[in-house]
This record gives sequence, structure tokens and C-alpha cells, in this order.
Amino acid sequence: MTASAIFAHFQSDMNSKTCISCEKDLTSEDIGFHKKMVNRGAEEFMCIDCLCEYFGIPREKADEMIENFRRMGCVLFN
Ligand SMILES: [Zn+2]
Repeated sequence: MTASAIFAHFQSDMNSKTCISCEKDLTSEDIGFHKKMVNRGAEEFMCIDCLCEYFGIPREKADEMIENFRRMGCVLFN
């Protein structure tokens, strides 16, 4: 493998974070919410929709919480 091939592989690996529950591609918001709600040091993540189901909260509530985290200046959502 050439250096650039390794780099490309590494990059595609970095970009392939998917929800461990529904396998949807994750946004930084999904990852931030998971870290905030579950485990700051997590390396596997669930999307916001699956987390809502997991915690039994409506999606609107999650959006509201993220908005609040953001307003408090949480680094996970900046
Ligand atoms: Zn999911």
C-alpha cells in the first residue's frame, strides 16, 4: 500500500461512522448528543432518533436539549 492509499483508507474509515442501531450515517450532532447523554469517551454511537427511542423521549425534546447544550456553550455542539 502506498502512503496515499493508506491515507485514503484512514479517511474513509473516519467518515464511516454509522449508528450502531439503525446504521444511518451519523452527523456531528448525533455524535455530540450520544457523548453528552451516554458516554463522553464513546467510540460507537447511536443517532439521535435511536437515542430518543432508547431513552423514551420525543425527538422534539432531543432537539430542545441540543439547543440548550449549545446555548450553554457545550464544546460537543460547537
Ligand atoms: Zn439510529
